Amino acid sequence: MNTVIQYLLKEQRLRNTRFRQAILQTLDHQASPISAPDLLRKLQISGYSINKTTVYREMDILLAKGLVEEVRFNEDVRRYELKSAHHHHLICQTCQKIEEIAFAHDLSDKEAEILATKKFKVLKHSLEFFGLCESCQKKCK
Ligand SMILES: [Zn+2]
Ligand SMILES: [Zn+2]
Repeated sequence: MNTVIQYLLKEQRLRNTRFRQAILQTLDHQASPISAPDLLRKLQISGYSINKTTVYREMDILLAKGLVEEVRFNEDVRRYELKSAHHHHLICQTCQKIEEIAFAHDLSDKEAEILATKKFKVLKHSLEFFGLCESCQKKCK
């Protein structure tokens, strides 16, 4: 198992149960954020006799402990990903593919500007880009 995950479990005094480990490992192998029903399906396909209630309860614990982050795009679906370095998402509106993108300087000067002009202290931000991925652009032509 991923050593970062092991470290976080230990740090948050969370037991490394079979289901918890399976959930974290599945999230670790996702290229993009995943919804709870999709996560449940993947776990069941992998042979875990886990139910919906357990998945939701685990997600609540992992969210509260900061191991997992909730991502919500322009829709009602909540998706989850392992908490990692700050990044943004590129979302294809045709095939729904989600890619991560990180910027070398991100928005730190904008946050400083907001503090200066609005006296508002930014604690976090999220930013999503909606558009067409490369293969969907080709199909459009
Ligand atoms: Zn696409
Ligand atoms: Zn950012």
